[in-house]
Amino acid sequence: MLTPVVNATGVLLHTNLGRAPLAHHQDASFFNLELNLATGKRGSRQYAVGSLIASAVGAEAAIVVNNCASAVLLALAALPNDRGVAVSRGELVEIGGGFRVPDVMAQSGARLVEVGTTNRTRLADFENAVNNDDVGLALHVHQSNYRIVGFTEAVPIRELATLDVPVLADIGSGLLDASCPWIDGPPPSWLAGEPAARQSLADGADLVMFSGDKLMGGPQCGVLAGSQDLIDRCAKHPLARAVRPGGLVLSALQETITHYLNRDGNAIPFWRQATAAIAQLQQRAEAIASRVAGSTTVEVVETMAVPGGGTLPGVEIPSVGLRLAGDVSRTLRFGDRPIIARVENDTTILDVRTVDPSDDDTLVEALSAL
Ligand SMILES: *Cc1c(COP(=O)(O)O)cnc(C)c1O
Repeated sequence: MLTPVVNATGVLLHTNLGRAPLAHHQDASFFNLELNLATGKRGSRQYAVGSLIASAVGAEAAIVVNNCASAVLLALAALPNDRGVAVSRGELVEIGGGFRVPDVMAQSGARLVEVGTTNRTRLADFENAVNNDDVGLALHVHQSNYRIVGFTEAVPIRELATLDVPVLADIGSGLLDASCPWIDGPPPSWLAGEPAARQSLADGADLVMFSGDKLMGGPQCGVLAGSQDLIDRCAKHPLARAVRPGGLVLSALQETITHYLNRDGNAIPFWRQATAAIAQLQQRAEAIASRVAGSTTVEVVETMAVPGGGTLPGVEIPSVGLRLAGDVSRTLRFGDRPIIARVENDTTILDVRTVDPSDDDTLVEALSAL
């Protein structure tokens, strides 16, 4: 059975736990999914939510598909027009779960033109491909889950934008705006260097693609946002129908985007957890530890949480946890509400950053019952 669990791993976007947590309630009701209320005629299911996303990232238009892999598949099927797609050899990545950019490109029918080398690719490599290999598009893929360090060179989007062909950017994680206007204060330091949709478009990308359930903190979906012309061509392609989202996903996504437009990051569980103050986590951890009955000794310790979900490799977010002697992770998984903990050096750690405060009582009960 799929069942709600308490994520005490400290991994904010845990792939095995469905990436971003999401609260969405929907009444059993019809809604105007494909009805234009102004004209009374059939409309597009993409229009309402697509327009909201477009305004959140500063694009002319946007559409929603099943996930980011579908977004890449659709764009590469719809846009090349039998011409090649230039991509750096340093960006032919495997994201996880077997998602390999070159394989997806092959499925789309697009002809891949590899440029540069694994560690160094220059603008001249792309120019060469555009001039000599009948290339009609340049694709930039974010190295989401790995870093190439040392003797390296990559071509940023604003340089790719000087090419004579449209630039597509698979930014993966779905950070909407690097300035994070939805949270109080400056963007968290751990976000540094993560590509954002708004800035990628402002730098000259003609189309960006990203996941909905990573740093965006929404339902599983993929977004394509960019120029009206490219979005229209994607929306009209036959594959668009095969990868279209259901009404449930669109409603949940509309709710998430509305929080962004209202600059209310606290209403988005991922951002609420990611930005919770250490003092607040410390207080909760101490309260939980002091309420645990029975013989179990619970220590409050400093921990490091991570963004996870194949984003921001090597990035840690200071956090607070509860430490118990031995490995009790199995017992914790067998409660009515399974608790997923982390085991380190024969101790069990429960990181409170990823635990919703409404689950603090669950922790107290489970730890008291050990
Ligand atoms: C995560 C990721 C994907 C795959 O996204 P899904 O929504 O899981 O399909 C594709 N590209 C990049 C760069 C990613 O980081």
